[in-house]
Amino acid sequence: MNQIVRPSSFVPTGLVVDGARGDDASINITVRSSSPTGVCPSCGTVSRRVHSRYRRHVMDLPLSGRHARLVVIARRFRCDAVFCGRQIFTERFADNVLASSARRTARLDCIVHHLGLALGGRPAASFARRLMLPVSNDTLLRVVRRRARIPSEPLNVVGIDDWAWRRNHRYGTIVCDLERRRPVILLPDRERATVEAWLADHREIAIVARDRGGGYGEAVARALPHATQVADRWHLMENASRAFLDAVRKSMRQIRSAIGATTINSDLLTCAERIQYEGFLHREETNTAILSLAKEGVPIKQIVRRTGHSRKLVRQVVRGEHNDVFRSRQSSLETHLPWLDAQWNNGSRNAAALWRKIRQLGFGGSARVVAEWATRRRRAERADAQSLARVPSARTIARLMTIGRDSLSKAETVTIAAIEGSLPTLVEAREAIAAFHAMIRRKAEADLTSWIDRARKSLVASFANGVGKDEAAVRAAIILPWSNGQTEGQITKLKLVKRQMYGRAKIDLLQARLIGAL
Ligand SMILES: [Zn+2]
Repeated sequence: MNQIVRPSSFVPTGLVVDGARGDDASINITVRSSSPTGVCPSCGTVSRRVHSRYRRHVMDLPLSGRHARLVVIARRFRCDAVFCGRQIFTERFADNVLASSARRTARLDCIVHHLGLALGGRPAASFARRLMLPVSNDTLLRVVRRRARIPSEPLNVVGIDDWAWRRNHRYGTIVCDLERRRPVILLPDRERATVEAWLADHREIAIVARDRGGGYGEAVARALPHATQVADRWHLMENASRAFLDAVRKSMRQIRSAIGATTINSDLLTCAERIQYEGFLHREETNTAILSLAKEGVPIKQIVRRTGHSRKLVRQVVRGEHNDVFRSRQSSLETHLPWLDAQWNNGSRNAAALWRKIRQLGFGGSARVVAEWATRRRRAERADAQSLARVPSARTIARLMTIGRDSLSKAETVTIAAIEGSLPTLVEAREAIAAFHAMIRRKAEADLTSWIDRARKSLVASFANGVGKDEAAVRAAIILPWSNGQTEGQITKLKLVKRQMYGRAKIDLLQARLIGAL
C-alpha cells in the first residue's frame, strides 16, 4: 500500500513507459521493452546487437476515460549464430502481452473476444463504443473467429442431434462431448454422408448418443462400427407416449360409442325425440294448411295443386282419417324401445336383423319401421359426435387414461370406466406403454425382448417394431448413463446465440461463439 504509482504500471508487463502525451479524448503512450535482449525466433539464440528500431502502434485498454494508444519502440536484432539462416529478426513480446503483428494489446483483445462471444457483432460493437473500446463490428467477429478454440482432446462419448438453421427449412448437426459437457463441432447439414465423414475422422469415439431418427444411427454404424449407440431416453419416453396417443386416436370411433352408450344415453334419446318432434311439427303445419283451405271451401283437386301434396294425403287429412300418418307406425315400436336400445348399445345395429328378432318378441310392424328407427338413432349419434364438447379429445383421453388417472373428477371417472370397459385393447396398449416407461426408469433391461414381443401384438405395434429394429441402442439407453439431454441444452444455447446474430450467422462464427463461450 501507499506505493508511488509509476507510469509503467499502467501498461502491460514487460513494457516501460518512455513518455506520454495526449488531449481530452485520447492519450498516446510511448513504450519499449524492459528487456535488453531479443531471442531469435529461428534458432533461439539470445542477441544484444540492435540493428535498428521501428514504431508499432497498438490500441490498449482505455485509461482515465481516454482512448489509449501505445507507440511501441520495437527493435530489430542481428542473429549472430553462424548456423542460423536468419540475419535480422524483430523483437517479440509474450503472447499474453502483445502478439506478433497484433494491432491490440492482449488484454484488450481478450475483452474484445469475450464481448464478441457474449453479444455477437453489431450489439457488441455498440456496447464496446460505450466502454471506449475502439473496435468495429467486423473486428469483433474476426477476433471471435481467430480465437475459436477447437477442442483437441480425444473424444470418447459424444451426443449427436440436429438443430434448425431455419425451422422446417434447413438443419445442421451438433456434436457434443458428453464427458466434458461441451459442444465439439457444428456440421452444416444433417446428411448422413456429412456426419459419417466427420465421425470417420474420430475413430476413438466409443459411445454415441443419438435420437431415434434413422440417419444418425446409420452414419454411426458405417463410420464407427465398433461404437455403442445409445438411443435418447427422453425421445424414447416421448415416442412411447405418442404411440399411446395414436392408439387412442385410432380408437376414437369406438370410444365415442362407448361414451355415448353410458354417460349420455339420455341425451341421445332427446336427440332422437327432437328429430321426431320436428317431423311432427312439419306435419302439423301441412295439416293446418290443408284444413284451412278445406274450410274455405276449396275443392280437393285445387288443394292438391296449391300445396303440392298427394291427392291421397289431402283426402285423408280433409276426412280427418290421418292426423299423423308416420306417428302411428312409430308408436307401434314404443313398447319395444327399451329392448331395441339395449340391442343397439350392444352393437347389433343391423335393422333387418333387429326386425327379425323383434318380430319373435311380438312386434307386428314392418321391417321399414325398424329401419327408420335405426336411421334416426344413427343420425342422433352422428349429431352427437359433432358436438365436440361432449366427447373429450384423443389427447385428453390419453392423459386421463395415463398420468391423469389418479385425479379424475366424477364425470371423468365414468367416462374412463366406460372406455376401459368396452376397449380392452386400449387398456392393453396403455399397460404396454406404462411397462415401457417403467423399464426405462428402473433400468430393467432384461425385460426388453419380452416387452417387444408382447407389444408387437397390441395397438402400439408400430412403436414396438421401431424399438425392435433399434433394440441394441434402446438397450444401451436403458443401461448406460449417457443421454442426449445435455446436447439439447447446447442446442438451446445455440438457438440463443443464433438469434443474437439476426439470422446472418455463418457456421464457423456460430461455432466459435458457441464453443468459445464456455
Ligand atoms: Zn537465429
